[in-house]
Amino acid sequence: MSAPEAQGATVAIVGGGISGLAAAWEIVSRPSGSGSPAKVVVFDAAERTGGKIRTGTVGPVEGIDLGPDTFVTRNSAAVELCRELGLGDDLVAPAAAGAFVWARGALRRLPSASFLGVPTRLAPLAQSGIVSRHGVARAALDLVLPPAALGASARADRSVASIVAPRLGAEVARRLVDPIVGGIHAGSTHDMSAAAVFPELLDAARSGGSLMRALGALRAGNSDPRFEEDGEVPLAPPPIFQSLRGGLERLVDALTRSLRERGVMIHTGAPVTALERQETAWRVVSSATTTDASAVVLATPAAVSAQLLAPHAPPATAALRAIDAASVAIVTLAYRRADVARSLHGGTGYLVPDEGARFVTACTWLTTKWAHLANQQGARDLVVVRASVGRIDDERFARMDDGDIVAKAHAEIARHMGIRRGPVAQSVTRWEGAFPQYRVGHLDRVAMIESAVASTEGIAVCGAFLSGVGIPACIAEARRSAAALMAGGTTRAPS
Ligand SMILES: Cc1cc2nc3c(=O)[nH]c(=O)nc-3n(C[C@H](O)[C@H](O)[C@H](O)COP(=O)(O)OP(=O)(O)OC[C@H]3O[C@@H](n4cnc5c(N)ncnc54)[C@H](O)[C@@H]3O)c2cc1C
Repeated sequence: MSAPEAQGATVAIVGGGISGLAAAWEIVSRPSGSGSPAKVVVFDAAERTGGKIRTGTVGPVEGIDLGPDTFVTRNSAAVELCRELGLGDDLVAPAAAGAFVWARGALRRLPSASFLGVPTRLAPLAQSGIVSRHGVARAALDLVLPPAALGASARADRSVASIVAPRLGAEVARRLVDPIVGGIHAGSTHDMSAAAVFPELLDAARSGGSLMRALGALRAGNSDPRFEEDGEVPLAPPPIFQSLRGGLERLVDALTRSLRERGVMIHTGAPVTALERQETAWRVVSSATTTDASAVVLATPAAVSAQLLAPHAPPATAALRAIDAASVAIVTLAYRRADVARSLHGGTGYLVPDEGARFVTACTWLTTKWAHLANQQGARDLVVVRASVGRIDDERFARMDDGDIVAKAHAEIARHMGIRRGPVAQSVTRWEGAFPQYRVGHLDRVAMIESAVASTEGIAVCGAFLSGVGIPACIAEARRSAAALMAGGTTRAPS
């Protein structure tokens, strides 16, 4: 099997989430050179494309995202894709900035001067009130503790918590770093790979000495949005986060429509059950149809890719199976504005640390965050919030019915936000196996997958389990993989 670009051959994309659609888009957007353009066929198991990206209506409010509701702009891949699809004018920035933490019985603003929850100065940490006085004193030890002797393990990956807690104390690790870094992945920082999710922290740990000083030094002149600046996170220009007016599913719809216009065949309700190696092609077997393709992009969750690759790339399969995934649910609740005691100004929502028997891990104030939601006629006297429940170590919600999930989530956020009556509209969206876990050693697993796939001709893999769960990371990875596959080279760009 040679480079598909040269042959005007068929490329099969398995999985029609944002990764698979972006891979297809990369292939049809590329100049076809001297050969005829590749024919692209997409298979998705679900009845719709888009995977985790889904937008719906809750009560009278339309265009509410029930999966992701925003993307970072630091990685420009999502913004660029929106622009390529003619959606540039519909990109919107949040109407508010900053976030709170539920700690010590109150909603407290995240300290300014921090990097993914790691404080870079003591005074803002003390002012935030998120950790106790003892916790602040314990964090101060970071400035004077001798460097830990790492010995032979100096180059090894470590968990985020195992770096933060010994230097800054358990309170900072649990109330600040775990809700932020763990929250992004619905995982626990106790076994989350610092090398994969917070490389700056691992570098700081390796240099020995104070984490606050090392990350504070990085901060100087750094416009990285993961730094909380003094005061509010700056909004303009350019915005740190963006979304689409009408919801992120518009990106999926535009992509699906544009792909079809360019001749891409998209089969939905078509789970791929096997990949069979033929003499000159890969046979893609699905319940709907069977297609012979000279190249295949696997854009399915890790467990599915593992199963499809099992006969062809056993080392990749083993590494893929080691990447488990957390299930979550998004509980969207609409309240009458008059029933919400707390002012929701000055932030987009709050995080809840893993203390006590917390159910809700985070709460986003949707009608404060997004003007396009708040300004809808039907939303005028409503406050719409979304609560996230579930984490890799907490699957209680999976055993509850929707009514019980709503009741439990409402009881918690009513206490946090002073809400006097129940919601007037609600929805529960369950996302099973949604967040791949980047556990310690993740980069080694990715390298293993990469090398095994590179030696399996005509196959590329992409998806949220590889090098970032965010939408821009998925798009960038998918486009890179597809481009390399079409050129007949390795599937990943050198880092
Ligand atoms: C609740 C939630 C909130 C999030 N919030 C954000 C956020 O605010 N910002 C952000 O950037 N990211 C966020 N994310 C992460 C981001 O949405 C996902 O990582 C990303 O959408 C994953 O895209 P994907 O295409 O790699 O995978 P998926 O969306 O999972 O797509 C995989 C596709 O493969 C299909 N499939 C499965 N098995 C088969 C098979 N056998 N044959 C064919 N097809 C198959 C599935 O149907 C699915 O469509 C969030 C995710 C969730 C769940």
